[in-house]
Amino acid sequence: MASKKLSRATKLVVLPRTAPVAHERVVLPVSERRLSFGDKWSYAPAPEAHNYIQLKPRYQLFIGGKFVAPRSGKYFDSINPATEEKLAEIAEADARDVDLAVKSARRAYKNVWSKMAGRERGKFLYRIARIIQEKSRELAVLETMDGGKTIKESRDIDLPLVAAHFFYYAGWADKLEYAFPGRAAQPLGVAGQIIPWNFPLLMAAWKLAPALACGNTCVLKPAETTSITAMHLAEIFQEAGLPDGVVNIVTGAGETGKALVDHSDVNKIAFTGSTSVGKLLTQAVAGTKKKLTLELGGKAANIIFEDAAIDQAVEGIISGIYFNQGHVCCAGSRLLVQEGVFPAVIRKLRDRIATLRIGNPLDKNTDIGAINSRMQLDKICELVDSGLKQGAELVQSNAKLPAKGYWYPPSFFTGVTASHRIAQEEIFGPVLSVMTFRTPEEAIERANNTPYGLSAGIWTDKGSKIFKIISKLRAGVVWANTYNKFDPTSPFGGYKESGFGREGGRHGLLPYVTLTAP
Ligand code: NAP
Ligand code: MG
Repeated sequence: MASKKLSRATKLVVLPRTAPVAHERVVLPVSERRLSFGDKWSYAPAPEAHNYIQLKPRYQLFIGGKFVAPRSGKYFDSINPATEEKLAEIAEADARDVDLAVKSARRAYKNVWSKMAGRERGKFLYRIARIIQEKSRELAVLETMDGGKTIKESRDIDLPLVAAHFFYYAGWADKLEYAFPGRAAQPLGVAGQIIPWNFPLLMAAWKLAPALACGNTCVLKPAETTSITAMHLAEIFQEAGLPDGVVNIVTGAGETGKALVDHSDVNKIAFTGSTSVGKLLTQAVAGTKKKLTLELGGKAANIIFEDAAIDQAVEGIISGIYFNQGHVCCAGSRLLVQEGVFPAVIRKLRDRIATLRIGNPLDKNTDIGAINSRMQLDKICELVDSGLKQGAELVQSNAKLPAKGYWYPPSFFTGVTASHRIAQEEIFGPVLSVMTFRTPEEAIERANNTPYGLSAGIWTDKGSKIFKIISKLRAGVVWANTYNKFDPTSPFGGYKESGFGREGGRHGLLPYVTLTAP
């Protein structure tokens, strides 16, 4: 249960009505909240306008360049997780719709896209990138409304990266012979691509841009809770004059994704999501000729050494775990602190989380937006409860949570041991698990002590230490003295249960081609 030391001047507050699992919250003592939220750090509201956004009451499937009703006749609601308001109805594709989408992609592959010169394919991608830039504010607002992430992030991080990915891969479309010198790169055919809800447009861009650049056609399945921006992207494809059927988008839940994976005429499956679904996909494609890449979960260690610039490190840790409400596969969700600086780091972390603004994601001052769905909130609460039951100590901001919507305050656990579930399982929420170490060897051992291997962070003043340690970390991406920085030119992907294959950079072309003799 909660630490005696911390609970001195605290009162117990149960999570608001919307939180299904109630547990005790340790509220930061006023004496320790030197920068308290609500006085020095409160800003006047700065809401982003959204009255011009034109949401359709119903979003249909995008097949063969047209918006078509699902065969099933079924629709499901997409809600705004910050208000619980229904935004629109989304078509639910069944296996027949998926079949139509795959057939349309196959036709477009045979008749148009695979025959088109790389230079021409590149022009379409450039055009798409430019239209995304023109519409980026509107798309950012939609992303925030449908997914709950803050406008600060969707506007300044997601959308610029989405356009950058299309620009970057547009550049490769006519240069594949330079990407793979001495080899000829042939497209695979039809790619089935399944993406999660944490970066809806960005994940779509990561999947579509390299596949199209290499000459494949696509059937994309967005996540159930965040399909709206994918359908606005479909309108951009129409506007760009992308030939019909080159990209098809089928919305629906897990069953729709399964129908796509099981379809016999798909050549490649690219999946980003949970490790458990990734394992199912591995079984489903075993024994077929389908190629597979998996980008799965993570439990990244952010390691702070005593010689690090502590203030900078704390900022990096804050953004590493609380960015996008912790809905980030590469979130720095385990903090490993060298013992000598543990008290200072914890004090600064407490101070800092007390200043984080949680609330309306459309407000430009908001740091922490809404949890994407009730299901995800349940998952976070269940894991936090397990941490308390297993004896870890919880520190939580006392920021007021809105009465409606799904919210979780920024939190961290101390007294965590390697065997705790909160040290091993992905919480996928704004909850950090803090542990300590004494020597670099111990830090490496602890960092690698997880089934995952997606990312890690290291904070130290010594360049040589960075190089020595990163070579021993089993993680696809390691950030040094920074965290969560993305660029389309850098490959991203995992080791172990975080998956295989890379997205981004020249490496990101490889999953979408077969290499033959020239
Ligand atoms: P998820 O449940 O695995 O869902 C991912 C996608 O797969 C969704 O579109 C989902 O549809 C679909 N799906 C579900 N069951 C399926 C099945 N049996 N066959 C085919 N498709 C199926 O994951 P999530 O909860 O949405 O996303 C969070 C997870 O994604 C986290 O574990 C996170 O670490 C991981 N992630 C990894 C990366 C990376 O690059 N490594 C990036 C982002 C997220 P519905 O959502 O409609 O059910
Ligand atoms: Mg939604």
